[in-house]
Amino acid sequence: MAGTAAASSGAAMLCGKEEKVLGVQKAPGSCPYCGGGVAATDVEAKWVLCCLPLCRKTKRRFACTACARRLVTYPAILHD
Ligand SMILES: [Zn+2]
Repeated sequence: MAGTAAASSGAAMLCGKEEKVLGVQKAPGSCPYCGGGVAATDVEAKWVLCCLPLCRKTKRRFACTACARRLVTYPAILHD
């Protein structure tokens, strides 16, 4: 598992939202658009205000591995 796609494009971020990918795993089911595989990505989102972390939250994001669509409503249609 080589999950280091370091995109250090020199964008200084003082305030805003930082996201860190914790892990990707295969989700059950298939993409409603193309029928491809679905990947569940656990993301840790951190809101930073002038280098002070304000709040942190982990969320799971679903995306199709074939057509790369973000499946925003995916958890709602998990029961098939
Ligand atoms: Zn798809």
